[in-house]
Amino acid sequence: MHQLYKKSLLLNNALRASILFTFGFASLSANPSDSIFFSNIEFRVVENAVSSHNYIWIHGDEKTAEMALKYHLQHYPGKGFFIQSEHREVSVAGTIVDPNRLFSRKGAAKALRHFKTDWQEGDLKYVLDLLDTARIPFLDAVFPGKGGLLIAVHNNSQGYNVKKEIPNSRMRSIKPEQNPRDFILCTDEADFHQLSNGPFTVILQDEMPAEDNGSLSWAAIRKGIRYVNIETRLGWLSQQKKMLKFVEDTLK
Ligand SMILES: [Zn+2]
Repeated sequence: MHQLYKKSLLLNNALRASILFTFGFASLSANPSDSIFFSNIEFRVVENAVSSHNYIWIHGDEKTAEMALKYHLQHYPGKGFFIQSEHREVSVAGTIVDPNRLFSRKGAAKALRHFKTDWQEGDLKYVLDLLDTARIPFLDAVFPGKGGLLIAVHNNSQGYNVKKEIPNSRMRSIKPEQNPRDFILCTDEADFHQLSNGPFTVILQDEMPAEDNGSLSWAAIRKGIRYVNIETRLGWLSQQKKMLKFVEDTLK
């Protein structure tokens, strides 16, 4: 089912490829004021009162995280960035990519080759250069100001849990009574110690790995931004709401 879906997306994208290349990344430049773009990837901006906390939902198929964040921003201050996509992968330059692999040039190069292996070297360089340029204002908008916090919400399915992140973690506070698929990843040691006092599993990733895969968390570390990722099992809405509230209350 998933493979079929991917094939049909690739077909659509083949049709779109020439348009994207003709107009470059300017084809969607008419931004509504409540949206921001990373190249042609649109994020809706939802703001509820002024706060130093920014939030991001970046995988369009992770609907529990979207619902939890929408609920959270109705009850707590902050600014949320919501990707406008129904699917995990989004269309970029005639292929589809995981949007959370575009935050470094190396990660973007690997992601762009994942579903399209026949790039002309010059075309790939052209797209990577455009992404390098588009990344700067996007991160400026999404990263909070000094002392602020960026909170990302994700959902996972079977096969992914906190154990996969332990090799890249410097500190960990595992709560055996919690499901290993529900955990909080943070990039600031002081935040780690505060969050560890709560009921949830917490890990600290504050050192760059040998291979930067282009995910937002590593971009945050590079820039010295405090970042928290709330990972929850897909479908466990009340759990993700609780984890969001816990992070908000603990790191005010
Ligand atoms: Zn995700």
